Amino acid sequence: MHYIDSEGRYFTKKLLIEANNAAIREERNRQLKEEYLENLSHDMVYPISLSFDEHNRGEIRVQIVFDEKGTTGFLDMSKNRYNLLPKAIYHIDGTVELETEEMINAKRLYPEGREYTETVGRKLIRDSSFRTKVLKAYNNECAMCELDDVSVLVAAHIQPAHLCEDDSVNNGICLCKIHDKFYEDGDICVRFNGEIFLQNENIKIDYDKIRFPIDKADYPSPNRLNQRLEMSIRRFKRN
Ligand SMILES: [Zn+2]
Repeated sequence: MHYIDSEGRYFTKKLLIEANNAAIREERNRQLKEEYLENLSHDMVYPISLSFDEHNRGEIRVQIVFDEKGTTGFLDMSKNRYNLLPKAIYHIDGTVELETEEMINAKRLYPEGREYTETVGRKLIRDSSFRTKVLKAYNNECAMCELDDVSVLVAAHIQPAHLCEDDSVNNGICLCKIHDKFYEDGDICVRFNGEIFLQNENIKIDYDKIRFPIDKADYPSPNRLNQRLEMSIRRFKRN
């Protein structure tokens, strides 16, 4: 068990194109194909899985992960540009926090030359595409309340991500951060048919059933809901 969070940096499509244009302009050794970058999705983030700092003249070489299969590419960039990239914070509970635009603007310097494993990079892509899918399925609304502010919505895994590889939309529920926390802790449980029941009597909730996705194909899997329910009940009894 690790007790510390770890950090990495990532690109958005826009940042990647900017960095690559700079590499071309500055005639750096490692550049990426412009057509390849143009075809990347705007909805994804592209984490740096490795960075090498041993280069001359304040240059840094980064390895970027482009998809869940682990396709990677190398790009050379100035250390200054590298230091301005947004950070991803990998929490020990398996969640990933992405630094926002506002935070990027108020940048601080961090130690350079860190190495990150490729596994970490893949996980970030996994989280990012899962979130996009699940939020869309639930029309960007919490399944337990009225909240529809995307910045506080979470794609909760029904079977937790560290226990299973299932990143299908049927293993997800879109929740606001508050209901996600209650669901995570087992204070709020969901039965196989979507019925909500409370294991914490201090919580009040307006619905007796979660609000399902628009498309039936996106409904949460009754099987997964059952597995999670069993876990939550055991966990709750132990406490
Ligand atoms: Zn909610």
